[in-house]
Amino acid sequence: MGFDVIVVGAGLAGLTATAEIADGGKKVLLLDQEPETSIGGQAWWSFGGLFLIDSPEQRKMGIKDSKELAYQDWMGSAGFDRLYDEDYWAKQWAEAYLDFAADEKRDWLRSLGIKFFPVVGWAERGGYLADGHGNSVPRFHIVWGTGPAIVEAFEKRIRTQIDQGLVTYLPRHRVDQLLIENGAAVGVKGSILEPSNAKRGEKSSRTVIDDFTYKSPTIVISSGGIGANFDLIRKNWPERLGSSPQNMISGVPDHVDGRMLEISEKTGARIVNRDRMWHYTEGIKNHSPVWTEHGIRILPGPSSLWFDAEGNRFQAPNFPGFDTLGTLETIMKTGYDYSWFILTQKIIEKEFALSGSEQNPDLTGKSYKRLLERLKKWSARSCSSIYGSR
Ligand SMILES: Cc1cc2nc3c(=O)[nH]c(=O)nc-3n(C[C@H](O)[C@H](O)[C@H](O)COP(=O)(O)OP(=O)(O)OC[C@H]3O[C@@H](n4cnc5c(N)ncnc54)[C@H](O)[C@@H]3O)c2cc1C
Repeated sequence: MGFDVIVVGAGLAGLTATAEIADGGKKVLLLDQEPETSIGGQAWWSFGGLFLIDSPEQRKMGIKDSKELAYQDWMGSAGFDRLYDEDYWAKQWAEAYLDFAADEKRDWLRSLGIKFFPVVGWAERGGYLADGHGNSVPRFHIVWGTGPAIVEAFEKRIRTQIDQGLVTYLPRHRVDQLLIENGAAVGVKGSILEPSNAKRGEKSSRTVIDDFTYKSPTIVISSGGIGANFDLIRKNWPERLGSSPQNMISGVPDHVDGRMLEISEKTGARIVNRDRMWHYTEGIKNHSPVWTEHGIRILPGPSSLWFDAEGNRFQAPNFPGFDTLGTLETIMKTGYDYSWFILTQKIIEKEFALSGSEQNPDLTGKSYKRLLERLKKWSARSCSSIYGSR
């Protein structure tokens, strides 16, 4: 069977690419190394916070946003300093994304059944000058149903396209090699992994039972990042952040291992911006781990105090949710790779939230009753501190 496009990776990027390409009448082969239970990848675990500009939700809260302000914030945060090289496409992509987020994105998502919780959060406030890092206004739109609701919308499209014969989805198919002819990728080779009972997000076996080769004139690689591969993180650790922490925990499942990026690079793909990585400093070990070194991000409210390892209070703007990379740099400069939140039981009860779908059953389960219970607890707290991202 001939395929117009092969998509490697059935996370949200792969599902979206597949659904849009198949909608154009093209035949798509969607491959993923994980079992079907993990379809949607990281996005299922996410809080489902989406970037929109000047939305009705923002306007209802009295937030004045505009594409110009979002452009200034994006440029200040990205700090493009390699415009004639690695940043060339990144800047063009940023501009196109700003147009998308200010215009068709919300309507497109709503047409797929995705709805938004009416409180917009404020992720990465920055805390510097207007043209520095951070969002000047709250823009973190939480999907009603969090990450699972986003995955569901795209999975539904893919299932229909499978029934229509437009999409072939093969889980447990791990790509090990890109086939190149005359300088262009023309196919993929890989291993069929043994069936697995691993539940969503759990590590699955890598035992090979067969191999495969598929050809196509177009290959899309949507294999995720490197967040679960601490060796690769250390290898690419940016000098500006000092030395890498000795102890790290992982906000992402084991499959986020960067292996496919290395395979692509060996075949001639160009990997850009490998030093621009993103880490959260407000993390703790998950009490019920699903994947290796499973960490959860704390979303603390305003009343807890944050100190370095020797008990010195962090200076502004090293507050939770302001500038995570700036805070990481500050922590690493202390010579210790940990810090302290000091707070009382009452503050935890009132103000602490944890990022991720499984930590927010009220929003994930679309339960108004449970949400009301949380809002009652939060009544004394600014609602702008529900935020989180990866
Ligand atoms: C707890 C948590 C909370 C988050 N909260 C937010 C949020 O609120 N807002 C936000 O914007 N983002 C959030 N994120 C980040 C966001 O979810 C991810 O950036 C996004 O889902 C990544 O999607 P992806 O498709 O690029 O990669 P992935 O989801 O990692 O999918 C990649 C897929 O490729 C497959 N694959 C890899 N290599 C191969 C290979 N060689 N052969 C075959 N298959 C392969 C993998 O098995 C996987 O299924 C969060 C993430 C987590 C984990």
